[in-house]
Amino acid sequence: MENSPLLGSDQVPHPSGGNASVNTSSFDSGATHDIASHPVGTYDDDDAESMSVNSNGRRSLWFYAFASILVAAVLGSIVAAVVLVTKNHTHPPRAVIFMVSDGCGPTSMTVARNFAQYRQSQADPTTPVSMQLPLDTMLIGSSRTRSSSSLVTDSAAGATAFSCVQKSYNGAVAVTDEIRPCGTLLEAAHVLGYRTGVVVTSRVTHATPAAFTAHVAHRDSENLIAEHQVAGATPLKFMADLVLGGGRRHFIPRDVPGSVRTDDRDLRIEAAEIFNATVVQSAAELAALPRDASSLPVLGLFSTSDMAYEVDRPTTDQPSLADMAAYALDVLGGELRDHRTPFFLMIEGSRIDHAAHDNDPAAHIYDLIMYNEVVAMVKKFVDEHPGTVVISVSDHETGGLSGGRQLTPEYPEYIWYPEVIARVSRSTFFVAADLFAYAAGSGSDAPPSEIEMRTYVLTTIENYQGVSDLTMAELDNLTTLALGGQAANQAAMMVALGEVISVRAELGWTTHGHTAADVNLYAYGGSHAATARDIMRDLAGNRENTDVGLFVRNYLGLDLASITERLLAGPLDLGGLGKAIRTAVGGQPRAGASPETALWGHN
Ligand SMILES: [Zn+2]
Repeated sequence: MENSPLLGSDQVPHPSGGNASVNTSSFDSGATHDIASHPVGTYDDDDAESMSVNSNGRRSLWFYAFASILVAAVLGSIVAAVVLVTKNHTHPPRAVIFMVSDGCGPTSMTVARNFAQYRQSQADPTTPVSMQLPLDTMLIGSSRTRSSSSLVTDSAAGATAFSCVQKSYNGAVAVTDEIRPCGTLLEAAHVLGYRTGVVVTSRVTHATPAAFTAHVAHRDSENLIAEHQVAGATPLKFMADLVLGGGRRHFIPRDVPGSVRTDDRDLRIEAAEIFNATVVQSAAELAALPRDASSLPVLGLFSTSDMAYEVDRPTTDQPSLADMAAYALDVLGGELRDHRTPFFLMIEGSRIDHAAHDNDPAAHIYDLIMYNEVVAMVKKFVDEHPGTVVISVSDHETGGLSGGRQLTPEYPEYIWYPEVIARVSRSTFFVAADLFAYAAGSGSDAPPSEIEMRTYVLTTIENYQGVSDLTMAELDNLTTLALGGQAANQAAMMVALGEVISVRAELGWTTHGHTAADVNLYAYGGSHAATARDIMRDLAGNRENTDVGLFVRNYLGLDLASITERLLAGPLDLGGLGKAIRTAVGGQPRAGASPETALWGHN
C-alpha cells in the first residue's frame, strides 16, 4: 500500500474535505538516526509531501522520456531518496494510545450519555439533548468480537486479538490456538525503543493488560503473568515503562497478608533490582513522582486485587483512572516532545466490565463516565501532538444491558429513569460488604437481631442506593441474605442489590456474562490529515477485532513476527490449565473465588 513516488498514490479524500496543513516545526530537530526515523509500516506521511513527490516524479518521467528512460529512472530514484530523507526529518513522531472500555456495549454508551445529560440538565436546564460524550465525537464504526473458540469471547481472547493481531481461544493470553506464544504490539514497540505502558483499574495481571505484557496458556495463571510482566521471565526480559493498576496480591510473598502467591518471592523488589523500577502503592505516592522519565519504569500497585469502582473510590487512597492516565501522558508526552520517542500506551477502563458482570448499573455507568473523562484528556493530548492516534474499543459487551425493561406481563412503558442512578452513591459490591459486616457483628458486638438487621438494611439502602421505598419482599430477602452470611450468600446478595436499582431505573440485563454483540469502535488522529485518512481507510465500518490491532501494528511500524520468533526460542513458561473451560459463566462463582474478588469470575 506504500505510495510509489512515480506511479502516484491511491489517496482517499478525508471526509472533512481538503488536506489540512500541519505545522510540524516543533518536531523538526530530531536526528535522522533517532527512533522516530524508523520506517513506519505501510502508512503514508503528510499529504502535502506525498503530493509533491508524485508531481515531481511525473514531471521527471515525462521530460526524460524524450531522451532516455534510463536517465529518468536514475533521477527519479534520486528524487525519491531525497524526499524519503526529508520525510523522516519532518514527520512528527508517532504514538498510539490504545483505550479499552472492557465490557462496554453500544447500549452502555447510550445509557451513560442519557445519565450524563440528565445530571447536567439538573445543573443547567438549557443542556441540549444533542449533548455529546467525549467518545461520541470519534465514533467511526464497530468491531466484531468473536474468538476462535466461541461466538462469545472472553477478555483474554479479545485482548489477544488486539495485541497479537490474531484470534485465539477463550482464556488465551497472547498465545495462539496451538498454545504457542505470539509477539504483542507492546513488546514489538519496546524492541524498537518506543516507550510503553499499561494503565488499568483491574489487577495488572488481569486478562487485558496481561495479553499485551505476558504469555500464558490460561488467564488464571496470574502469579506467572506477574513474573512475565516485571521479573524478566520471558525471553525478551523487559518490563513496560508503566505498569499501573491493582493486583498487588500476585506480587507479594505468601506470608504477607492478602498474598495469593505460593512462594516467597517479592516481585516488587525483583522489579526494582532487575529493571531499577520505582514502586508506588497509593494515590499520594503516584502524585509525588516527578512528571518526567526519571522514575521509569514505574510499577504502580494500588490495591490488593482490583482497584475500587469509581463510585466507591472516595473511600480509598487509590488514584482514579484519570490520575493514572494523566501521569502516563505527562511522562510519555515529555519523551515524545523532547526526544521524539514514540510510544504505545494501553489504557483500560477495566471495571466497566466487572460492574456489568455484577448487573450493577450505577457502578457501570460511573466507571464509563470516568472513562469518558480520560478520553477527553487523551483527545486533547492528540490535538497537541500531531502524529498521535487514540483508539477506543471494547473487547466485548457484558451483561446484555437494555435501556427499558418489561416489569409486568402487561405491555411495557417506553422509558428508563436516570434519576434512579443519580441517587446511588456506592456500588452493590460495597453495600453487600457493608450489610454482611453488620450482620456478622463488629468487634465484640453480638450479631444483630432480625429487627435490628431489618432496620440497618432500610437505612443502608437509603443511604447508599438512594431507595426509600423497598418492598416488603425486598426487605425480607435482603435481611435473610445478610443474616445468612457472606460465604453462603454473596452472589445472591449482589443480584438482589442490583435488582433494587435496575428495576426502579427500568434497566434490563440478560446475563451475568458476556454477549456476542458488536461493539463501538472509536478513533481520532487530530487535525493531522494523513493520520485521519489512514484511520478512515483502515478502521471505518464494521471490522474484525484483529483489524484494530493490525492498524496499530502498521501505524507504528511494528514487527510482531520477529518477536514471536524470539519468544519461541525460549525458555518461556506458559503455565498450566491449557484450554480449560472457565466455570464462572452461569451465575455461580467459580470454585475458589473469594467473595472479595471475583464474584462472577469477571472474565
Ligand atoms: Zn473483557
